[in-house]
Amino acid sequence: MSIVVFRPHGYRTPFHPVAFRSRLRTANVEWPCVDETDYAAGLRLVWGMPGDLVVIEHDVLGAHLIPELINCPEDLCVPMVKLYPATTGADRWRWAHSDGHGPIEEHQPYVRTAALCTAKISYSLRRANPLPLGSANWWWFEVDSALSKWLWALDRGYRWHVHPAEAVHVHRVSAHA
Ligand SMILES: [Zn+2]
Repeated sequence: MSIVVFRPHGYRTPFHPVAFRSRLRTANVEWPCVDETDYAAGLRLVWGMPGDLVVIEHDVLGAHLIPELINCPEDLCVPMVKLYPATTGADRWRWAHSDGHGPIEEHQPYVRTAALCTAKISYSLRRANPLPLGSANWWWFEVDSALSKWLWALDRGYRWHVHPAEAVHVHRVSAHA
């Protein structure tokens, strides 16, 4: 299993994967992102690594949920997570996941489009579905929706399992939130 933290170059991540290394026997990687497509390039690289994959975005505090996601039998798992006005520019927070008609209003067990805040993607799903070449061109802000759209287009019934537990976006705790 691999835990990969995607982190813009120069940012400190609030999550320290080393703390989980011995307990979960995982290979942990921090992937600094400099160019707009580095997030997608990194995801594409680790997609082929054996074992389940946990993606952590640098600005989400969700490490405490990793064991729950790993132990779930579903292929695609995410916790609930809110986006705050500091991220969206809207008047109030909203849930980050969407059901194809816009952001969800409350917890739903499955969604079509998920924010990759803290996301488990099983090895069996990845092995069966190598990322297409074009995915290397996804920009960082479209990786979640582009990945969900691609999975949906495979027409294999893939959808994201949403755990009721909540990860916290750092915009909740930043001075600008
Ligand atoms: Zn799950």
